[in-house]
Amino acid sequence: MSRVALVTGGTRGIGEAVCLKLKEHGYTVVANYGSNDTQATAFNERTGIPIYKFDVGSMSACQNGIAQIEKDIGPIDVLVNNAGITRDTTMHKMQYEQWYDVVRTNLGSCFYVTRSLINGMRERRFGRIVNIGSINGQAGQYGQVNYAAAKSGIHGFTKALAQECAPVGITVNAIAPGYVATDMVRAVPEVVLEKIIAKIPVGRLGEADDIARGVLFLVSDDAGFVTGSTLSINGGQHMY
Ligand code: NDP
Repeated sequence: MSRVALVTGGTRGIGEAVCLKLKEHGYTVVANYGSNDTQATAFNERTGIPIYKFDVGSMSACQNGIAQIEKDIGPIDVLVNNAGITRDTTMHKMQYEQWYDVVRTNLGSCFYVTRSLINGMRERRFGRIVNIGSINGQAGQYGQVNYAAAKSGIHGFTKALAQECAPVGITVNAIAPGYVATDMVRAVPEVVLEKIIAKIPVGRLGEADDIARGVLFLVSDDAGFVTGSTLSINGGQHMY
């Protein structure tokens, strides 16, 4: 029987590429999203992958969402904590909501979603968890105190959880993407983007598929001895 994989924020960008990659390799894939019904419906019609709308920044929404997925589809074997947002501005202008929304959506979600399904993985003594961090969680980024803090937290979350889960057959790893051509990066002003690309040794933005290939490896049986690691996929921009 094929393994069930949940990708949060799976309806566009990196998440969509991950969904397609896992489906192509025989996983039963489920995509979560937050609010954009039009894009999510189009994704579902295009791919046939079931979609589940719930806010990953809310504990109760995650508990209900995970329970519904496991009832409809089956126990979740593979979790990709991918959903994320940006609310960029410098610290001295940052509002509480900009801080809180980014921290609860990007980092809180890793706890809320994982906590809602970890006991099932432990009982079945198998699981694969991949958390999508960021180059900006490793290196920091001007105008992203909220985002860098949340993403940096994901890397600590990954290492601690990996230690707890190793004896029960669950691996936990992170991927730290560099700048990838998705809606999130298209929102960056062109002049800033040009400066960023100039600093990427391979001379281009990443493609969502570059990240999806990394996820495919980390969730595979071949990666059973890989846990607590961070795979940087960034075109050489930050060697960490
Ligand atoms: P996109 O903005 O293209 O897509 C984000 C996805 O997350 C959408 O499916 C969105 O759903 C979903 N989402 C957002 N908020 C919530 C929420 N509260 N509950 C449930 N789902 C939500 O992002 P990317 O594909 O660019 O990024 C994916 C991940 O990779 C993020 O964690 C991001 O921080 C990280 N990353 C991205 C980089 C890049 O260069 N693009 C670089 C480094 C890391 P909806 O459509 O409903 O809004």
